[in-house]
Amino acid sequence: MNLSNLGEFGLIHAIQRLSSGRSPDTVIGIGDDAAVLKIGPATLLLATTDMLIEGVHFDLSCTDHYSLGWKSAAVNLSDIAAMGGLPRFCLTSLALPARIPVEAVMDFYRGFHALLRAHKTILAGGDTCSSKGGLVISVTALGEAKKRTIISRAGAKRGDRIFITGTPGDSGAGLELLRSGVRSQESEARSQGAGGRGQKPGVRSEDFNSELIERHLRPVPRVKWGRQLALSGCASSMIDVSDGLSSDLFHLCEESGTGALLFSDKIPLSPALLGSADRLRKPPLHYALSGGEDYELLFTVPSARVRTLEKLHIPATEIGTITAGNAVFLVNAAGKKTILKPTGYDHFKRANDRVKR
Ligand code: ADP
Ligand code: MG
Repeated sequence: MNLSNLGEFGLIHAIQRLSSGRSPDTVIGIGDDAAVLKIGPATLLLATTDMLIEGVHFDLSCTDHYSLGWKSAAVNLSDIAAMGGLPRFCLTSLALPARIPVEAVMDFYRGFHALLRAHKTILAGGDTCSSKGGLVISVTALGEAKKRTIISRAGAKRGDRIFITGTPGDSGAGLELLRSGVRSQESEARSQGAGGRGQKPGVRSEDFNSELIERHLRPVPRVKWGRQLALSGCASSMIDVSDGLSSDLFHLCEESGTGALLFSDKIPLSPALLGSADRLRKPPLHYALSGGEDYELLFTVPSARVRTLEKLHIPATEIGTITAGNAVFLVNAAGKKTILKPTGYDHFKRANDRVKR
């Protein structure tokens, strides 16, 4: 069988089946946003790692190195946030092509540290080597949590209500704009200054487009909201939206052994996404369902705890309901149900002709 038939997640399941089993101290192993490992009587270690590969996850003609550093940190801290944990330490490994200027590497770390500082997280080590191909970045984030506050992907129950923070789709739309040559004011300014080596100038955009592009280049991990949800005990399950709302809802349902109804007219679309619709190839809902790299939190709350959620004042919108079975349906404003396919990113199922979205 080849990889495109098995798909990224089929392959991960196969690796999981072959792996050497779980020790009693592996509270959560392969299959969630971060591993949860028992290291003391009350304290749990959270561990997650993500790679960013030039030509797969990013294109240096669309991003500056500072933003790349920021984003490399953000995608990892987002996985700690998705468990309700507190990020503490990071490790970075870089494979660097000979052509990359030293100042670009420094810019990468300036961006990386800007995000880490905001979350009081420390860079504690890593590895550096040369690359015969493109730039390869691997980041590991370590965090901590108490056992009773961990929010896994697996806790959703029939009847739970589904919420999402922020506005999904902005990042995917921002990527499409970048790839069609639009640049944000901010990214254009960065490409003039130290941060912009490699970034090509493009058509300058002043308004909504800039907002979408910034959402793609500088995602903000929802660490504070993840902590609030964890400490309040109101969420029954959680995942961060990295592959796309449709795919990540699937991952959550798969791990919880449930189905879901997702109400298309309740999915919050940003004014920027709606306002840029005429520049985008697909309708706004497409980006919200399949765009990916939003790094928002998708979580479930039992009805009895919705009041607790409201008191937290997290900007989250109710978008669906968990059901029995395993089917995930999209329900439109008229009540018509269609099977929702996981149309977000899978590393092996798509033609390798474009950057990750
Ligand atoms: P995320 O999008 O939250 O980073 P992934 O989809 O990358 O999550 O991974 C899903 C799960 O599979 C995680 O628990 C991750 O640790 C695990 N995983 C992915 N690839 C491998 C691998 N090669 N070996 C072991 N575990 C893996
Ligand atoms: Mg994740």
